[in-house]
Amino acid sequence: MTATAPREEQLWSRCAGCATLLYRKRLRRNLDVCPECGAHARLSAPDRLRQLVDPGSFRPLPDPPADVDPIGFVDVVPYPHRLTAARAGTGLGEAVVCGTATLGGHPAALAVMDFRFLGGSLGCAVGELITRAAERALDDRVPLILVTASGGARMQEGVLSLMQMATVSQAVAALREAGLLTVSVLTDPTYGGVAASFATNTDVVVAESGARMGFAGPRVIRQVTGRALPEGFQTADFLLRHGQVDMVVPRRALRARLVALLAAARGGRTPAPGPGDPAAPAARRPVPRQQPAGAGRDTAPADATDGDPWATVRLARHPGRPTTLDYLDSAFDGFVELHGDRLGGDCPAVVGGLARLDGRPVMVIGHQKGHTTAELVARNFGMASPAGHRKALRLMRLAARWGLPVVTLVDTPGADPGVGAEEQGQAAAIAESILALTVLPTPVVAVITGEGGSGGALALAVADRVLMLAHAVYSVISPEGCAAILWPDRSAAPQAARALRLTAPDLHRLGVVDEIVPEPPGAAHDDPEATAAAVRDAVRANLLPLLDVPPATLVRRRRQRFRRFGAARAAAGGVR
Ligand SMILES: [Zn+2]
Repeated sequence: MTATAPREEQLWSRCAGCATLLYRKRLRRNLDVCPECGAHARLSAPDRLRQLVDPGSFRPLPDPPADVDPIGFVDVVPYPHRLTAARAGTGLGEAVVCGTATLGGHPAALAVMDFRFLGGSLGCAVGELITRAAERALDDRVPLILVTASGGARMQEGVLSLMQMATVSQAVAALREAGLLTVSVLTDPTYGGVAASFATNTDVVVAESGARMGFAGPRVIRQVTGRALPEGFQTADFLLRHGQVDMVVPRRALRARLVALLAAARGGRTPAPGPGDPAAPAARRPVPRQQPAGAGRDTAPADATDGDPWATVRLARHPGRPTTLDYLDSAFDGFVELHGDRLGGDCPAVVGGLARLDGRPVMVIGHQKGHTTAELVARNFGMASPAGHRKALRLMRLAARWGLPVVTLVDTPGADPGVGAEEQGQAAAIAESILALTVLPTPVVAVITGEGGSGGALALAVADRVLMLAHAVYSVISPEGCAAILWPDRSAAPQAARALRLTAPDLHRLGVVDEIVPEPPGAAHDDPEATAAAVRDAVRANLLPLLDVPPATLVRRRRQRFRRFGAARAAAGGVR
């Protein structure tokens, strides 16, 4: 919908989404988003920069590279003629605009691609400019933001344009090693060599609403497969569902979201949130007290367990018990959820992302159950798939790279035991998560908030400090599963619960748990707010002393902590 020349078309433009004729000034005021259908029109790089950075803060990088026509490419017209025409048509020197700026006061280096310039194609000069932007970020020790819009590599520069994928990726890797945040913002369209390199190998991948991204374009795929493509194929929402992007953000919220990411990666200096900023810390809303059907109080005694582990099991499973998202809402601030394992999935049973604990940025990762049957089903009852474990792994590594502590909230009956999970390598996914935690060079505090079910729980619980809510349980197997194997039938679950030593006091005595977090009178579901406050206080108290420990010492102690269990148990002969 790039309207050109005649006067009437400068006053009016037609929405590419719904064909409504829109008054141009009104459209501009709305950030080039159609007020009728919400379609996001493509932006030029200068317009994009105006929308994203603090006014007057942009400084373009000096010395644009000299003209390149490395292979003397000619189709119907020589390549230099096409370059000249693109320059005249856009007023730009190349298909990317690079420089430094501030966003909400946070400095960053930016490279913003412009699709109008030869389809935003990646040639040698574009690769060189983006690489320089990355090098500038490294020199200044600031984050790098890449806004992509491209059909792919520039064919007029042959295999040399292909090499730019590697060149820019190396520059991104250098920022990664330096612990500097890299963010790509996928805008419509992002395809080919750009999609297959720096658009997706950054720390955080944000897709603008409606953006499409893929390696092969839809036309090519239709030709190859001879089939119609599914509805919404390669759109931002499709990418989110398949674990390829962290978030889909509408244009009006994009700047605020980037500011929140920059703030988190920088050490938590909180910028002033803009109005309507979805990442702004919302006023704490009380955690709703859930009384789901079938969860009447008589199913679990509200005030006491009378020391009966089976009663504790039922409290730990109570559907009104606060979930990870409840804690994120009440014990933490400014949660920015990150999605996807980058391998094809986004497991709903694991949630994670950046948040603040008393103003300090942390990475929070936890199992997510739900309060109602519908929520529980949608979250697979908090049973993580391999994609969930790989998402957790990705977030742990991001946290380590950024120097953020990790807080995990454990509440799962166990890892997803389905056929699909097996096919996708559930065992290996858990194993890799556990291994990664043993060497993670950043503080890790785990809280068993509800059910700590076997390997699925341990995948998030190899930590420097392991806390446990008073009525949570943590066990190698469910009491029912244990009863089915060792007793005549599942009805022996209460006996199994007693035998398994799965309560907080038992595990504290065993040294598996470092601290028991008290629950309000009754249990957590009777006062979710008080529970959240207790969790917040306990995490803070346990995290603070870890922050000054050198990473190597931290890792050594963590490994010692988990190594000692075998020996301790042999010497003490178990509990008591
Ligand atoms: Zn429209």
